[in-house]
Amino acid sequence: MKIADLFREKKPVSFEIFPPKGELSMESFRQTLSALSLLSPDYISVTCSAGGSGGRERTAELAGIIRREYGVESCAHLTCVNSDVQMLREDVRKLHENGVENVLALRGDVIPGAQTRVFRFASELMRHLRDEGFCLGGACYPEGHIECGDPEEDLRHLYEKQQAGASFLVTQLFFDNACFYRFIEKARKLGITIPVTPGIMPILSKAQIERMIFTCGASLPSDIIRILYRYENDPDGLRKAGIDYAVRQIRDLQANGADGIHIYTMNRPQIATEIMEGLR
Ligand code: FAD
Repeated sequence: MKIADLFREKKPVSFEIFPPKGELSMESFRQTLSALSLLSPDYISVTCSAGGSGGRERTAELAGIIRREYGVESCAHLTCVNSDVQMLREDVRKLHENGVENVLALRGDVIPGAQTRVFRFASELMRHLRDEGFCLGGACYPEGHIECGDPEEDLRHLYEKQQAGASFLVTQLFFDNACFYRFIEKARKLGITIPVTPGIMPILSKAQIERMIFTCGASLPSDIIRILYRYENDPDGLRKAGIDYAVRQIRDLQANGADGIHIYTMNRPQIATEIMEGLR
């Protein structure tokens, strides 16, 4: 089922996972999928490594497995920054071969010093994919993309994604719902009418938060800083407080009419389970 059609029926709850890499075997990945599918998500999206490592070649296959074997709709991420036309042709062939209907079309992170190949921006990839019959989604950034100095300009580029064929958007993680609400208001004023799903990642450790701030520039509200301070030497307490924060964040988003919820599960089904239980 196309995700755009899903949005006509409901406000979907989706999970994000990454392909197995390193010592994470396919068997433990399947256990992750089994546990996640028991939570009845509306779809599961599978990331795609832009650099060619991290199991990029498996994204389409895994998205196919999720649909066929777990009975859950899937969405395959597809990055373009390091791909030439031939590589993308091969990606598209694999997506069709695996029966994938939904694609989150992304640029991917630019490796410093490396040249982008054919497509400089996600919107260019979307135009390239437009006639392939996929339902296309795109990424968006409530606090502005980290490379773009001007959030208003970033929003204009987001509008280009809608023009290029995106029919839904998923946000970068954020911790301050007020940022999301301001972003949505501005996006709607600019004519962005497609659904925008907020992406939520629970805090599990201080190291994870530091990484996130530097890679995506998400701001930390004082409630999060207090949690980090209070549980500085108590990893279990921090994890519990992080999940509790995510549940409260999602409840507030749902109460304010957000277009669904996307949970960054980090391939940890227990986290998704605790969040879903907290929401019940
Ligand atoms: P773009 O939309 O191309 O934007 C990149 C930058 O270019 C922005 O600063 C934008 O303002 C600017 N820009 C856009 N159009 C123009 C224009 N016409 N002229 C000038 N500037 C322009 N990364 C992965 O490697 N694999 C994944 O699976 C993955 N999944 C993700 C899922 C979600 C929900 C999100 C939010 C991000 C994901 N990312 C993933 C990270 C993403 O690849 C990076 O954030 C990347 O830096 C930007 O990708 P984009 O598709 O948003 O790029």
